Amino acid sequence: MTNADNRILVKEHLAHEAEPRSLSADEKHRLEGEIKAELKARDAVLVAHYYTDPDIQRLAEETGGCVSDSLEMARFGNQHPASTIVVAGVKFMGETAKILNPEKTVLMPTLEATCSLDIGCPPEDFSAFCDQHPDRTVVVYANTSAAVKARADWVVTSSCAQSIVEHLDSRGEKVLWAPDKHLGRYIERTTGADMLLWDGSCIVHEEFKSRGVEDLKALYPDAAILVHPESPESVVEIADVVGSTSQLINAVQTLPNERFIVATDNGIFYKMQQLAPNKTLIEAPTAGNGATCRSCAHCPWMAMNGLENLLHVLRTGDQEVLVDGALREDALRPLRRMLDFTASMNLKAAGNA
Ligand code: SF4
Repeated sequence: MTNADNRILVKEHLAHEAEPRSLSADEKHRLEGEIKAELKARDAVLVAHYYTDPDIQRLAEETGGCVSDSLEMARFGNQHPASTIVVAGVKFMGETAKILNPEKTVLMPTLEATCSLDIGCPPEDFSAFCDQHPDRTVVVYANTSAAVKARADWVVTSSCAQSIVEHLDSRGEKVLWAPDKHLGRYIERTTGADMLLWDGSCIVHEEFKSRGVEDLKALYPDAAILVHPESPESVVEIADVVGSTSQLINAVQTLPNERFIVATDNGIFYKMQQLAPNKTLIEAPTAGNGATCRSCAHCPWMAMNGLENLLHVLRTGDQEVLVDGALREDALRPLRRMLDFTASMNLKAAGNA
């Protein structure tokens, strides 16, 4: 699949995408009360990504769920005793929850919420690519379909990709990486591993431009630049910190700077501001503004998660995530490998502390 084909597919998806309508304070209050009651009645837990709407993130926290990156979402859902997991995020996150918890019901506010990385890596094309390079260990980013994961040796997220590729490189393994080329290039540079990259990208992070970030830095020279590695290389190069969502949130809390220029989805500002209320956060500029840009630093698919569709699925059981049994078994193996590896890393880190 070429980059142009990928863009056409993404465009088609975005044409159908519908954001929830905006709600009055009274409506929000009523819906939040009803959602809390339904979560209890259904023995359900709400797991939300940092890029979702602040109302959803707050609700997840207030009801004993979690707000986190995709790795922690997977871990949390796997360990929580609730019989239903409601995943507010995008489809691959719901699929991951189902693969890890086949006995549980997994619901999402909408199954239409997808990801340009997932769309840009169709399983048949990817499988053919793997067949052409049988000597390489297949490492796929979590932002992929269950079918693509099933073809992989390892699944990684941005918070553990570097450690896992380092580990493979130390064993002399060559890597076939998919789908995000920017993250892949960053990992390749930082680890020195031999990596063959699929040509995919995130429509949100690809919009950040180094020129705009430099202009902003000239205005605020004291600000630290925080960049997610799904951004283009020229933006990564001028960053003070490059990291996953959790690592960027940690940087806002621990660095001495009072101001930060943040190049990732602006949904993350809710958690950053909550944990570091005295810091000033500035959104890194994107290629366009308003109607002229495709994402404006906010993922159009994450934005599809709203209070109304969340309440609807809790009441009706609609939008259930299902993964075929055989496919689940194959996708579980590389996912388990990642979870076991990161658990052993954490144990080592705890042992060193
Ligand atoms: S922000 Fe990018 S990588 Fe994340 S879900 Fe949206 S399109 Fe996918």
